[in-house]
Amino acid sequence: MQELCSLNLEELKTWIAEQGEKPFRAAQVFDWVYQKGAESFADMTNLAKDFRTKLSESLSFPSLKLVRQIDSEDGETTKFLWQLADQKLVESVLIRSHDRRTVCVSCQVGCPARCAFCASGKEGLLRNLTPAEIVEQVLHIDRQLKKIGERVCHIVFMGMGEPMENYDAVLKAVSLFNDPAAFQISQRRITISTVGVVEGIKRLSKEDLHVNLVLSLHAPNQHLRKKIIPYARKYPLEEILLAMDEYGKETKRDITYEYTLLAGINDRMEHADELATLLKGKQCTVNLIPYNPVDGLHLKRPEADTIVAFKEALVEAGINTTWRYTKGKDIAAACGQLALQKL
Ligand code: SAH
Repeated sequence: MQELCSLNLEELKTWIAEQGEKPFRAAQVFDWVYQKGAESFADMTNLAKDFRTKLSESLSFPSLKLVRQIDSEDGETTKFLWQLADQKLVESVLIRSHDRRTVCVSCQVGCPARCAFCASGKEGLLRNLTPAEIVEQVLHIDRQLKKIGERVCHIVFMGMGEPMENYDAVLKAVSLFNDPAAFQISQRRITISTVGVVEGIKRLSKEDLHVNLVLSLHAPNQHLRKKIIPYARKYPLEEILLAMDEYGKETKRDITYEYTLLAGINDRMEHADELATLLKGKQCTVNLIPYNPVDGLHLKRPEADTIVAFKEALVEAGINTTWRYTKGKDIAAACGQLALQKL
């Protein structure tokens, strides 16, 4: 059965026309699903009954099952754990910051990248999510928010999985997030984070999209990077950085480099200096993320003064640097942590 939320408006129009129905019915279905929060095809009361039956026989309605929902103590983040049709688990995080409502989505069950500090890759990659399984994470959260007069306005692909390794599904989900008939989220408010898959970055730069691209850098040289990110063996750092530069040039978007700080591993002054040299002259931002502890991993978050000194060194070298205080620490909000606890 075809998943309803894997279809964009054009595809649904085509499908509906093939059933001998008027294509404008597609916009009505979209309105029910994405604006009115219909819970089933039966709710779509302005559609003829036999058409609704036909829809329900051929298209599967959103089916992501909410298993757990946990708010952080500070109320700024909420973590959602979802069960998929095959019982597998994925998670999303809602981040509230002033009036901004950002959803961090997963794009795979598990992750092939196996970064040393991350919970998602501990079991490796289990499977790709379908576009519908990505879209439905946001659909459910958006429905909850609508009840209190809010909407999801930003999306980040920073949950479980590597977006470039599920490229087509991620792009389809992006088109639905962006679609005026669905979520109406501008491309500039959508961010894809990658571990650094060169062909994926190059391909994305040719898509005529204006989404933000983030590279999970985590080290100032290939040698150290390979130790933190086993996946880095596949792609030399110089090639990744060239592809990122090309993305910035083609799309006119600033590039962000994420750097998870791990005590005693990549947080020394010499690393900050090397990083500043590596990124010198680039139109970019470095986002420092102190490591968020994951059960079973013997890594440590650096002390606050180490983080401050690291940041200062970059700023002094002229690198635009932000330090993301890890939100939702008490609810295990880093990538893959909740699903791993449940497993
Ligand atoms: N595969 C993609 C997207 C998922 S990870 C990528 O590698 O970019 C997204 C971000 O989550 C990474 O940049 C990493 O910094 C962050 N992250 C994951 N686990 C973390 C942890 N335990 N502590 C701090 N940051 C973490």
